[in-house]
Amino acid sequence: MLSLVDINSYYGNIRALKGVSLEVKEGEIITLIGANGAGKTTTLMSISGIVPPRTGDVRFMGESIARVNPDKIVSMGISQVPEGRRIFPYLTVLENLDMGAFLRNDKDGVNADLDYVFGLFPILAERRNQAGGTLSGGEQQMLAISRALMARPRLLLLDEPSLGLAPLIVKQIFEIIKKINSENNTTIFLVEQNANLALKVAHRGYVMENGRITLSDAADRLLTNEDVKKAYLGI
Ligand code: ATP
Repeated sequence: MLSLVDINSYYGNIRALKGVSLEVKEGEIITLIGANGAGKTTTLMSISGIVPPRTGDVRFMGESIARVNPDKIVSMGISQVPEGRRIFPYLTVLENLDMGAFLRNDKDGVNADLDYVFGLFPILAERRNQAGGTLSGGEQQMLAISRALMARPRLLLLDEPSLGLAPLIVKQIFEIIKKINSENNTTIFLVEQNANLALKVAHRGYVMENGRITLSDAADRLLTNEDVKKAYLGI
């Protein structure tokens, strides 16, 4: 479904991604794990067109999207849930969700997707008229995921969904991520610092260090890999 082919991405003259290649197959949950500053967020930004790679290619459903604008990439079927949620605090829950459907004009489909996300996260239905900024951290994460789903993506990019949330809420959100993948047939690319949790829900994983992919394998094998255990699982 998606492949990154030897991409190099920069912030000014800082080379954040150094020849990154990886693949995501339709229907998978893929995770990218690594330390702070390894380049995980930049990888997502390079896919969604916010930090387009300077060299190399990003291919989605057979087309090159490396030089395509982010809004077009959303309309092609890729939505990103940014790190730190970045919901619109002064808009209501419903208005935040409407923003996720901004590029769509199939009103019936949008209403059906609204029902779908309210089914996933009933608390959002209860709070539909409340300002986004008044929600708890966990609820804001639910809203950020739901807003992305309102674009009806085929590929959902999730950046650190567990960040700053209580373990019980994280467990709930990860259950829903699995559900979105299995019931809604949405492919998921998950960036996480909580490697243990990420590798438990993912099918395959990539490890990133200093802007490079250093390891890739089935998630269950990465969970028992001695180097991964020492560096990322604290075992
Ligand atoms: P974290 O988990 O802390 O978000 P990460 O693995 O997602 O880390 P990135 O945020 O992709 O890492 O950062 C990769 C490198 O690019 C780091 O060296 C970082 O300092 C640098 N970087 C990230 N954003 C910018 C920016 N806007 N301007 C300049 N350098 C940046």
